[in-house]
Amino acid sequence: MAAMTRPPLNRRLAAFGTTIFAEMSALAVRTGSINLGQGFPDTDGPEEIREAAVRALRDGRGNQYPPGPGVPELRTAVTEHQRRYYGLAYDPDTEVLVTAGATEGIAAALLALVEPGDEVIALEPYYDSYAASIAMAGGTRVPVTLRPRDRRFTLDLDELRDAVTDRTRLILLNTPHNPTGTVLTREELTAIAALAVERDLLVVTDEVYEHLVFDDAEHIPLATLPGMRERTVTIGSAGKTFSYTGWKVGWVTATPELVTAVRSAKQYLTYVSAGPFQYAIAEALRLPDAFFDGLRADLRAKREVLSRGLTQAGFEVYAPAGTYFITTDIRPLGESDGVAFCRALPERCGVVAIPNAVFYDHREQGAPFVRFAFCKRVEVLEEAAARLKGPATGG
Ligand code: PMP
Ligand code: GLN
Repeated sequence: MAAMTRPPLNRRLAAFGTTIFAEMSALAVRTGSINLGQGFPDTDGPEEIREAAVRALRDGRGNQYPPGPGVPELRTAVTEHQRRYYGLAYDPDTEVLVTAGATEGIAAALLALVEPGDEVIALEPYYDSYAASIAMAGGTRVPVTLRPRDRRFTLDLDELRDAVTDRTRLILLNTPHNPTGTVLTREELTAIAALAVERDLLVVTDEVYEHLVFDDAEHIPLATLPGMRERTVTIGSAGKTFSYTGWKVGWVTATPELVTAVRSAKQYLTYVSAGPFQYAIAEALRLPDAFFDGLRADLRAKREVLSRGLTQAGFEVYAPAGTYFITTDIRPLGESDGVAFCRALPERCGVVAIPNAVFYDHREQGAPFVRFAFCKRVEVLEEAAARLKGPATGG
């Protein structure tokens, strides 16, 4: 009887189930498929950075609890990086917080800054942890949908403006944007900044793909725009920039007041993040420009290989200006349900992809879109392209 009346054990999170990334990576393993689903590189980052982690472990640096805000070496390196690339000045002692990946930074920021009933505007499709973190904070998610226009998923600034209400607490931004690959332009960011100032909103901006921008696209941190430094919480991560996604080193930069607030939540989530990796990432952030340029060139070439393969296989391809991901439209293949398509794809041709629909509140809007990751070795991308071109996908 008691069992029948008992509410679900995870009431606030019951709707979220298992993340799509875990589900699809397990499917890839089970079917022996090429995994172009979850975004992780299939080669490790710079050898010297791995050696720096080994050195830190051997030298006993970070093997016991590091300081709550992160080791001073990493906090200083983060501030140097923000100054070097964007001219942004932060105080390493009061304006930086090291987190267990960007995921914890986002969760801690939302838990600290959102009160039950507050509305949080997020660009849809949104990275899956946003929805769960907003729910954990007791907030209400208000999606603003990016729609394909001129071969790019584009933010409608009027829609964004209309989404703001008296209950809006913050905008949760992501640029370069996962999964669409859109990089917000200066004009778009200027309009977002003007809105945030006008309505006195905070902005949490997830910039984990800051170094992965291609062609003419430029990553512009929101905090560099007028009026934004004092109301922006910027989230960074070493995972994508240095190809060590398993190390889970992230950081938050913001004013002392905002960093203190975020830290109040972080300290009860993980208390601190793994020590030795922090020393290694401090060295990584100081790598010369050639490293960052090389990473971009490498990924740009991989983007080309996969774009070409997907186009030849009959997908409509939205060329991404940034990130690891290509969003495609499957309707030219005679398909319209991305979830069913991705569930069937491993059996049909041995490739795993992610259905963008899971990143939408308005699932029907995302139904025909499917995301492929190109952060893999060229030969793997070529093999995937060949498989996708086969009869199973209509190619
Ligand atoms: N934000 C976005 C947009 C992502 O794609 C990811 C995945 N790397 C994260 C946050 C999480 O980053 P981390 O692995 O550092 O927690
Ligand atoms: N950010 C990665 C992606 O979008 C996945 C990270 C994760 O599995 N949580 O593929």
